[in-house]
Amino acid sequence: METNVVINTFVKETGGSVASQLEACTRCGMCAEACHFYQATGNPEYAPVWKIELLKRAYEQRFTLIGKMKLALGIDKRITDEEISHFSQIVYEACTMCNKCSMVCPMGIQIGPLIHEVRAGFSDAGIVPADLMAAVNKQVEEGSPLGVTDDVYESRMEWVADEWEVDLPMDVKGADTLVVFSSIEVMKFPENIAAIAKILNTAGEKWTLSTHAREVVNFGFYEGNAERTKMFLKRVFDGAVELGVKKIVVTECGHAYDALRWTSYNLMDVPAGIEITHIVGLIGEYLKAGRIKLKEGALDGNGTITFHDACKIQRKGGHIKEPRTVLNLLAPHDFKEMSPNREEAICCGGGGGVIAIKEADPIRYAAFGLKIDQMKKVGAKTVVMSCSNCRLQFVDCVQHFNLDVKVAGLSQLVADSLVEE
Ligand code: SF4
Ligand code: SF4
Repeated sequence: METNVVINTFVKETGGSVASQLEACTRCGMCAEACHFYQATGNPEYAPVWKIELLKRAYEQRFTLIGKMKLALGIDKRITDEEISHFSQIVYEACTMCNKCSMVCPMGIQIGPLIHEVRAGFSDAGIVPADLMAAVNKQVEEGSPLGVTDDVYESRMEWVADEWEVDLPMDVKGADTLVVFSSIEVMKFPENIAAIAKILNTAGEKWTLSTHAREVVNFGFYEGNAERTKMFLKRVFDGAVELGVKKIVVTECGHAYDALRWTSYNLMDVPAGIEITHIVGLIGEYLKAGRIKLKEGALDGNGTITFHDACKIQRKGGHIKEPRTVLNLLAPHDFKEMSPNREEAICCGGGGGVIAIKEADPIRYAAFGLKIDQMKKVGAKTVVMSCSNCRLQFVDCVQHFNLDVKVAGLSQLVADSLVEE
C-alpha cells in the first residue's frame, strides 16, 4: 500500500524537468565523492545517485519502453515495501539536502532537489522517521518544533531583553523590517537574539519582532511535505503583512532561508513588495554603508579562527563575501580558511533534519569527522558560522569528540565588536 502511494507521488512529481534529469544521468558516479556521508563511510548506498534510484526506477517502469520491457522480462522487479522503508532511512538519515553533489555532476543534474522529491513521496505515504515527524507535528500544533508557544516566546524575549539589556520591539505596525528567529536560537542560543538586536539597533533599523511570525524554522520542508511547508511559510508571511513591513530578515538558519527565500515562490502566492534577506547579507550592507563599524583586530591573538560555510546561506544563498569581510576585519592575522571552502565547503552533517533523528547519530558523527580533519589542518581554535543548525551540530560534536575548539555565531562576534559611538 505504502509503495503505491510513494510511486504515485513520484509519478506525479515527474514532470519534464525531473524526467530529463533522470534521463541525463550517465551513472558516472562522480557525485559520490562530493557527498560527506559517502566520503566518511565509503557506503555505496550513500552515493547521491543511489538516493534517487527509486525515483528513477518508478519513472522508467511507468514511462519508458525499456523500463516496461525490463519488468516484463524479469530484469527489473516492482518496487517493494521493504525497499521503500530502507530508502526512507537513507534519504532522511544520510542526506542533509546540501546539494554539493549537484556541483560536480557533469550533466548538471540537480540531485538535492530530486532527493527532495523522493522525500515528498515518503511523506505522502507516511514513512518519515518518527523523531522528524514528531517535530513536524509539534510545529503544526504549537507553532514550533522546539515548543516555542506564544507564552514561551513572550517569556524568552522578556528574559533576553532583561538579561542583555537590549531593546526588542514587538508587534510594531509600520516597522520597515520584520526579524524572524529560529526556535534553535530562542531555546539554545538566546545570545544570538540579543546580538542581532544590538546590531539592528546600532544601525538605526526600524525593526520589529512578531508574535504571529515567531518561528522561521520549517520542518515541513525537511519532511518534504508541500502542504505543511506552505502552512509554516504562511504564518511568517501573514505576520509580515499584518505589520506592513517591507523586509523580512531570516536570522541564523539556513534551511529556513531556503524555504522562505526561494521555495516559497514555487509553492504559494508570496505577498508582493516584501524583500527577503539573511542577517549576514544585512550585516554586509550595514558595514558597506557605514551604519555599523567594527573594532579592527578585536579577535586577533586568540589562536586561529576559521569559518564554516553553510550550504543554504553561502553555497546557495551566495553570502560568501560578507562573513570574510567581517573576519578579515576582526582577525586580520588569525583568520584562516579551511579547505575546501566557500561554495565548495563540506556540509556540517546535521542539516536537512538529520540532527533531529536519533537513529542518524552514528552517521552524523561519522560525517563530522571530515570537519574535524579540516579544522585540525588549519589549527582552528575558534570556528565561526552563520547558521544555528550548523552551530547545534558543531556544539554537539565538539562535546561528543571532546575537541578543544570554540564554536561561535557570526552575529555574536559582530555584536561583541561593534564600535559604540
Ligand atoms: S554525477 Fe550526475 S551523471 Fe554522474 S552518477 Fe551522479 S547524478 Fe549521475
Ligand atoms: S545533497 Fe548533500 S548530503 Fe544529500 S546526497 Fe547530495 S551531497 Fe550528499
